[in-house]
Amino acid sequence: MMTRRPNVVIAIGIALAAALTLIAAWVMAQMRDDALANARASAFNIALLFERDTARNFDVYALSLQAVIDAIDDPRLAALPADIRQSVLFDRSATAKNLGAIFVTNAAGDVIYDSGAMPPRKLNVAGRDYFTAQRDSPHLGLYLSRPFIPRDGPANATIGLSRRLSNPDGSFAGVVVGTMRLDYFRQLFSDVDIGTNGTVAVLLADGTLLMRRPYVPAMIGHSVAESTLFQRFERTQPSGFFSVGPVDDVRRWFALRRVDGYPLVFGVAIAAEDIYREWRVRAWIIGTLTALLDASLIALAVMFTLQLQRRVALEAELREQAGTDALTSLANRRSFETRADHEWARTRRSGMPLSLALFDVDRFKLYNDRYGHLAGDDALAAVAHALGAHARRAADCAARYGGEEFVLLLPETGEAQALALAEKVRAAIEALALPHAESPNGVLTVSVGVACTTQSVFADWRALTDAADAALYTAKRAGRNRVAAWLPAATTDSRDTGIARGSG
Ligand code: GH3
Ligand code: MG
Ligand code: MG
Repeated sequence: MMTRRPNVVIAIGIALAAALTLIAAWVMAQMRDDALANARASAFNIALLFERDTARNFDVYALSLQAVIDAIDDPRLAALPADIRQSVLFDRSATAKNLGAIFVTNAAGDVIYDSGAMPPRKLNVAGRDYFTAQRDSPHLGLYLSRPFIPRDGPANATIGLSRRLSNPDGSFAGVVVGTMRLDYFRQLFSDVDIGTNGTVAVLLADGTLLMRRPYVPAMIGHSVAESTLFQRFERTQPSGFFSVGPVDDVRRWFALRRVDGYPLVFGVAIAAEDIYREWRVRAWIIGTLTALLDASLIALAVMFTLQLQRRVALEAELREQAGTDALTSLANRRSFETRADHEWARTRRSGMPLSLALFDVDRFKLYNDRYGHLAGDDALAAVAHALGAHARRAADCAARYGGEEFVLLLPETGEAQALALAEKVRAAIEALALPHAESPNGVLTVSVGVACTTQSVFADWRALTDAADAALYTAKRAGRNRVAAWLPAATTDSRDTGIARGSG
């Protein structure tokens, strides 16, 4: 089968290459997913780390403010000398380096105690949001102010953390305020690994940017509430997503996290480019190797096929040289002619009769059309086998004359004997019962023309063959599936033996 359809090998080669490509594509897709999963996990972990650190620090600051409130609530405070009062008020306060001065105001907003100066700075903060917010809502708790950016630029920007002071009757008595430098966040952000193009940022819950890495001073204190990124976060509170950020046009994967108990949001973003950089290199390598393998596989299949075809051709040639027909294993035309030359010379010398029968498969074109050329080949092989089985004597020669025509050369055989043998072969082929729906008989049959040297004086074996061919033509015309003997009276005609059983 493989020798008849050499393209099967190429098809298999292509199928293998396709399978290889699919596997490689699947592996690469998995690796891509893994790369994103890793980036996602590290972004979340970083955001969590920030949240924890910040919450702990703010808790400490809140306690510091509470310590001041506790001291102020003590009625003995007013009686103390100023320097002792200062240390009672502020000695329990945290002295973290990013926590600035703590000061206390009265209900009018005038600073009355100041951890940084004694006597306190002359300052009124009645206009500041950390003051008004506490004045206007009694149960605010710890308030985070909007960033305060000094005139010399955002390097020393701060936010205020305020708590309300109340009189015993609950009325507003002022605020206690601590300031915190936004530089705290800058330091927090400085050491984490977020890739070459990653960003981290901290925002107030209303979208005000407090700090960002990379540091963009102009953006500090500005709101990104209108950005699609922030709105998407506000709307769906997703666990993370790809987006273009509000500051630059780089596409990043964002992990956003609210700080528990404080109006703060951390965003950690890893650039798509960084996430997939290593993957891209690997994908190139795997892709190139796969393409090379695919090409080699197909090239090998093609080479193998060509080799196979060359071998088939060589085999046919060898058979031809050996005188055998490849399909039927009978003698081929050339071999037949050599034998015919030889037998002709012999019959000339001995004067013994020589008979020749020509066989032609009936309606074989229709057979091919109906069953296909390969089935046609198989049928020819079966017909040839039946024919070969009847050429029993050593001198008999059964050969493939061409296409679907066969010849039987019968030395030392008279006309009657030859006709009888031809009829036996015809009947044997009919008995094979190879289905042939396009033939009136329903099975594959042959027509036979027979000629014998006793019938006339023939110039050579070719003339004898022509006579058999004329007889074959008669058999066809008479309805096929029958044997006809040559009729010497007219060279163009011959006589039907009448022994055929054919119904045609
Ligand atoms: P009929 O002889 O009964 O008049 O009809 P036919 O259909 O056999 O007519 P013809 O001799 O013209 O057709 C011979 C067909 O045999 C044509 C060709 O396709 C087919 N044929 C010749 N050699 C081969 C072969 O090696 N294999 C196959 N499968 N078909 C062959
Ligand atoms: Mg023919
Ligand atoms: Mg035919």
